[in-house]
Amino acid sequence: MNPKDTLRPEVLAFSPYTPGLSIDEIKARYGLQSVIKLASNENPLGASPLVTRVLTRRADSVFRYPQSGNPRLVEAIARVHGLDPAQVAPGNGSDEIIDLLLRVKARPGVDNVVAFDPCFSIYKLQARLCGVEMRQVKLGPDFSFPFEKLLTLCDDHTALVFVTNPDNPSGNAVKAAELAFLAKALPKRAMLVVDEAYVDFSDDEQEYSIMSRLDSLDNVVVLRTFSKLYGLAGLRLGFGAMPAWLADLVMRVRLPFSVNLLAEAAGLAALEDLHFLQATRETVRQGRAWLTERLTQLGCTVAPSQANFLLFTPPAKAKDVFERLLERGIIIRPLASYGLPDSLRVSMGSQPENEAFIAALTEILAVARETVHG
Ligand code: PMP
Repeated sequence: MNPKDTLRPEVLAFSPYTPGLSIDEIKARYGLQSVIKLASNENPLGASPLVTRVLTRRADSVFRYPQSGNPRLVEAIARVHGLDPAQVAPGNGSDEIIDLLLRVKARPGVDNVVAFDPCFSIYKLQARLCGVEMRQVKLGPDFSFPFEKLLTLCDDHTALVFVTNPDNPSGNAVKAAELAFLAKALPKRAMLVVDEAYVDFSDDEQEYSIMSRLDSLDNVVVLRTFSKLYGLAGLRLGFGAMPAWLADLVMRVRLPFSVNLLAEAAGLAALEDLHFLQATRETVRQGRAWLTERLTQLGCTVAPSQANFLLFTPPAKAKDVFERLLERGIIIRPLASYGLPDSLRVSMGSQPENEAFIAALTEILAVARETVHG
């Protein structure tokens, strides 16, 4: 008997998350000294200096376990977002909270979860691993959210409905009032999970984020991450804000030390460094406007974005453009795995990185035009 036949079928059929290419991989592949990575929506300014100071200071504490449940971090997050600490569940990235919500809420082989197509792939992957049916409906042609169609997929066995706002990879966003309306229209058992990984970069966080309405909505979970605005992607930190009864269950089943000692210390420091947060927001918003203008001038179609990335369709084969950029040491994200083979996604970098990207793209598109016309 093949020993693999004894495993769960969901595990055998599992294909893991595809991350953006790494800087070291591309340096080695093309023999490059320097590489610009605009593929994973990381912070264009790096890490906050306050965070790096705290990490250095705390390095000699790593032989200790963190306090179980990370109460100091929970308190600090609750304070910043006007929540009761009982509503906050921190995790090893918001990825962990997505996984925990599925495992707490969705019954394998019985329940289903619902999302748009395309959507952030972790929703699908973890649902599959949990043996839970995933139902999806296509976004509108302009990446708008057809909520009426989403509702037609929901039934009495719908455990979770995921909406990413602003959306990844399109950058499209809706106002919180529309999401509150959706939450009220869901069947009784279903919870709306609003993934706000990118809401910090929207033009008006108050208008777009549903966080401040949580107390009046008993079937909504909000996901936030420290990987983007707070610049802590490598440390893995995120949290879910949800009704206290659900946060309690999520925290009970979470592995006790999944938010490690340094991630907790860094998270606390990152929440304090308001100067860094403001500088990041400004860099992203200015970069977004500048890149939108430049990409449009180069003949690309650019989707309006409230996030720290832009989805664009170049006037040449997207796959070729992606590869020519790689050869020049610039990593962006192809979107074929999202079912968008003609489009690409670029994260906002620092202004010099954005300029290097546009200079390389200008050359690549000029060569592509000559090849077509020459
Ligand atoms: N949700 C969305 C929509 C994302 O794009 C990402 C990061 N790629 C995450 C969640 C996960 O973030 P984290 O690093 O906190 O796990």
